[in-house]
Amino acid sequence: MGPSEEARRLLAALQQSHAAWLREEAWACKSGCAACCTRSVHITGLEGREILRYLREAGRSLEQVEAFQEAAAARPQNGPLTTNHFARLCLAGLEPPAEPESPWDFQPCPFLTEDLCSIYPVRPMMCRAFVSKRTCQEAGSAEVPPLVLTTNTLFLQLVEHLAAGEAWGNMLTILASLQDPEYGDVGLSRAEEIPGFLIPPEEEEAVAALWKGLAEARVGDKSLLGSILRERG
Ligand code: SF4
Repeated sequence: MGPSEEARRLLAALQQSHAAWLREEAWACKSGCAACCTRSVHITGLEGREILRYLREAGRSLEQVEAFQEAAAARPQNGPLTTNHFARLCLAGLEPPAEPESPWDFQPCPFLTEDLCSIYPVRPMMCRAFVSKRTCQEAGSAEVPPLVLTTNTLFLQLVEHLAAGEAWGNMLTILASLQDPEYGDVGLSRAEEIPGFLIPPEEEEAVAALWKGLAEARVGDKSLLGSILRERG
């Protein structure tokens, strides 16, 4: 099995573990609620290739999605700060640099079809991390418990680690770049390896339970967590 096939298997296993972790709590999120589905989703190149593979296998073409052409014109010049880069700065006691351009675009995600995600099986980790205890449309914003914010960040760090060295950035820009090599990597960053984690002391016990679960989860005959860390190491 090649490294890329192994990375795909580990990504799928991480996504399953994340879903199981979130199932421990009740959420207001339900099918047809798409308030969080905007164009401000950041992904790794690994996740981008999974989306393209899914579209190809479903006989769908990226050319059908106008937003990818729009992204080519609208992308920012600077890549955003990745989750692991942000953690690296914080762990070193450094201030993250101010973003020169706003990375947020709240137009609807082009993968939305009648308020349903049309790439649901391969939606990226950042989309999977969008959960809320209250209905966002009614409340005006999501309500996410602090522990879930922390553990979502850990999952995002693990996915980024798995894709270290690959492009990291806005989903539309990543997909346009993967689809057309001449598109280049302007507006994209590079995924980094895990520098460490930002876990508040009061959450350490709960996070230890998550680590235990990830260490015990098997991919083939190996530990999921061990395999992800070895995959880059
Ligand atoms: S990819 Fe799917 S889940 Fe993610 S923002 Fe787009 S429609 Fe929503």
